[in-house]
Amino acid sequence: MSLEAISKKRIKELLESLGEGYKLVAPAWEDGKLVFKEIKNMDEMVISHELPYKSPKEFLFPQLERMMCFDTTGGVTVEDQSEKTIVFGVKPCDLEALKVLKAVLAQGKFHDAWFVTRMEKTIFIGMGCSSEKPGCFCAQRGINRKYSSTCDVFLRDMGDHYKVEIITDKGRSLFNGLDLKKFKFEEVSYPENMAQSSRPTDETPRLLEIDAEENVVFNQVDWDRIAERCLGCGICTYLCPTCHCFAFKDVKEKDLSVRYRVWDSCMYPKFTLHASGHNPRSTKKERFRQRVMHKYVYIKQNQGYTACTGCGRCIRSCPAGMNIKTVVSEIMEVLDE
Ligand code: SF4
Ligand code: SF4
Repeated sequence: MSLEAISKKRIKELLESLGEGYKLVAPAWEDGKLVFKEIKNMDEMVISHELPYKSPKEFLFPQLERMMCFDTTGGVTVEDQSEKTIVFGVKPCDLEALKVLKAVLAQGKFHDAWFVTRMEKTIFIGMGCSSEKPGCFCAQRGINRKYSSTCDVFLRDMGDHYKVEIITDKGRSLFNGLDLKKFKFEEVSYPENMAQSSRPTDETPRLLEIDAEENVVFNQVDWDRIAERCLGCGICTYLCPTCHCFAFKDVKEKDLSVRYRVWDSCMYPKFTLHASGHNPRSTKKERFRQRVMHKYVYIKQNQGYTACTGCGRCIRSCPAGMNIKTVVSEIMEVLDE
């Protein structure tokens, strides 16, 4: 019995069996938007080629997280609200974003124990994308929308069935003890050239990258004009699968003082406000420049990744029509001159 293929009709049934003891997170409709959410009833789950409105980032790095409590005797209790979780149906662009989150929060000089614990308890099942949606530009970010190995199990769409590709030991552990006969896994031979689906198949346009000295990008681009329309609402950062800025809030709850972590945004005027009153990024030009340079210059310098997957969420949802793809293209043209 092999784990090669499973009929599409039986995928929910399989997930139901795999998911015993796990919280299952998958795309589902909520308030008219397709989002990643906890699935309580398999009928809610949507298996499609659509890229959900939000990425699954919040299941590793919640928007609001209770971190620790301090009591009146000086005792400290560290909170752990992580659960064993399967995140199903993650597209290659969002899997690529995990590399950035891991590099910043787990593999560099910082070790975010809350993120690391969630990562350890989470199994990602990836799936490919059939076409770029309006605003998407993953191909220009060098991402293959049909395949990614940055997950534990990947399901390749083969028409009437999925080819099940187990990538990690964590992925394999999901299938241990499962009565595979029940799901009629079949061994299927695939043509040699199927390996091509691991490579980008589109006509790959010029890669959208900023390759220049930091001070050149900082000083030679007309950031005032580029940032002019930005409203500073922060939607782009909240929806971005790679953004990871946060703030702490200490809240009194009965006899306890509770420390929460909440998402923050570099697009907010007070994000860099010092206690002295000085604000090194007091204008929207400085804030917008920071967002673009952080994604395309600083993280690349520090962690080796560009923190933009081309998912297009910030473009589709910006109320002012800002477009990071055209901004970076314009910067590349200025640098080419
Ligand atoms: S979503 Fe648009 S308007 Fe809002 S902060 Fe981001 S770039 Fe500015
Ligand atoms: S910057 Fe925009 S296009 Fe790039 S990963 Fe973030 S949301 Fe997606």
